[in-house]
Amino acid sequence: MARSAQTATSAPEALGSLTQPGARVGIQCRMCQSERVTRISMELADGSEVQFTNCLECENRTWEAGDELLSVDHVLSRAKRKL
Ligand SMILES: [Zn+2]
Repeated sequence: MARSAQTATSAPEALGSLTQPGARVGIQCRMCQSERVTRISMELADGSEVQFTNCLECENRTWEAGDELLSVDHVLSRAKRKL
């Protein structure tokens, strides 16, 4: 087990309001920031994997591929296209 010699880097105090303690980022709705969301991983017809997030609070629906935000039209057009 490697022992990391990390010195505590001083965090800028100005960012205090934006930092979330614990740094455990759960899945949140991009619209209302609610964590009451369901997330499903799907594979499109072209083999690319996307994550579908459905918010139970505001019913916002989001498609993502990695960090990229996809439009619904984009996903549907890909899903229809069969090789
Ligand atoms: Zn929402």
